[in-house]
Amino acid sequence: MQTSLISNRINANDAQEADDILRRCVHCGFCNAVCPTYQLQGDERDGPRGRIYLLKQLFEGEAVTQKTQFHLDRCLSCKSCETTCPSGVKYGRLADIGRNVIEQQVGRPWHQRRLRQLLMLTLPYPQRLKPLLRVAYLLRPLFSSKLKNKLPIQRPCPVWPAIRHPQRVLLLEGCVQRGLAPHIDALAAVVLDQVGISAVRQPNAGCCGALNYHLSDHNGSLNFMRRMIDTCWPQIESGVEAIIMTASGCGVMLKDYAHLLREDALYAEKAVQFSALARDLSEVLRSEDLSALNVTPRKLAFQSPCTLQHGQHLNGVVEEILRRLGFELTPVIDGHLCCGSAGTYSILQPQLSEQLRANKLQHLQNGQPDMIATANIGCLLHLQQIVDVPVVHWVELLAEGLST
Ligand code: SF4
Ligand code: SF4
Repeated sequence: MQTSLISNRINANDAQEADDILRRCVHCGFCNAVCPTYQLQGDERDGPRGRIYLLKQLFEGEAVTQKTQFHLDRCLSCKSCETTCPSGVKYGRLADIGRNVIEQQVGRPWHQRRLRQLLMLTLPYPQRLKPLLRVAYLLRPLFSSKLKNKLPIQRPCPVWPAIRHPQRVLLLEGCVQRGLAPHIDALAAVVLDQVGISAVRQPNAGCCGALNYHLSDHNGSLNFMRRMIDTCWPQIESGVEAIIMTASGCGVMLKDYAHLLREDALYAEKAVQFSALARDLSEVLRSEDLSALNVTPRKLAFQSPCTLQHGQHLNGVVEEILRRLGFELTPVIDGHLCCGSAGTYSILQPQLSEQLRANKLQHLQNGQPDMIATANIGCLLHLQQIVDVPVVHWVELLAEGLST
């Protein structure tokens, strides 16, 4: 794609990066075929090729309108288009750069601004989220059935095992998951302990920065990243072998620190080390002997989150672990498509999100599974709202037969 970027809207490094990405695009449109919003809307501007064109106009200095913002807002950032693109176009990065510019150039109605601020003031802080959740449970009898279904299912949280193995990893508990489903990381620690790996906690590490980043608060997000690195640094220096997340949405962010902090003189080098240690739980367990786990194999459908398959390129890894343990995985049509959760997308774009969820649940239940497993807290909470089949994090299945 021919470009003539005007860089006064973005800094020189972003301009160069955007230019490099845009030049790779050959307009073939293969990406449209795998884009969930293009499939639903059938509008070129709601597909990656059209959005790339809108972004090109933006970077070239053409007027930015609310129309551009509207179509960018409808993008899920699922990166399904990146996985399919034969030219290696990094659409996700281009969209992130563009959204930041749009946010500064185009205003938002007050109710959108307030909602976004509210999300940024609550979700990344478990100490704020937990009391709100307690109040919501108290008021539950007064809620409509739709609102009742939005409350996460509470499960018992096991005791975190003591550090007793020479092999140690840092297990980050994040923010939303720590607030709404802390049992997932505690169970991951139990499973790791069972296979000979001690999971060290770092309760003050906080949010990875993904939420703010995807709401175009890049400065706020970078501050979360710096805090994360500072808090974890003593453990990194003491030799933890990996930094693990059980939520794939956070994992993909940790792996991006090296790129996102590359211009920060104080943190760039540390960010490279940090990202090099970042792993999804499946990357650690795939090479371990799991025979000591006493699982009950069942028929299940695995919903591979976009952040796992398109973001971290780990398609098939969890599935392979589950099959190795004897689970029967039912086929899932269009497994590459997003379930509609996508961070705060389900709150900001409820209509599209609900359509995507309905399609996803239909595909997940086609093979009549006993349960649905996933690898990201956002997908889990989103899917379990309207389905009778239990929805769990896959590590919960591995921990079932262990005393907790
Ligand atoms: S598949 Fe890649 S090269 Fe083709 S239009 Fe989409 S982004 Fe451009
Ligand atoms: S990130 Fe997802 S929703 Fe956005 S353009 Fe790419 S495929 Fe479509």
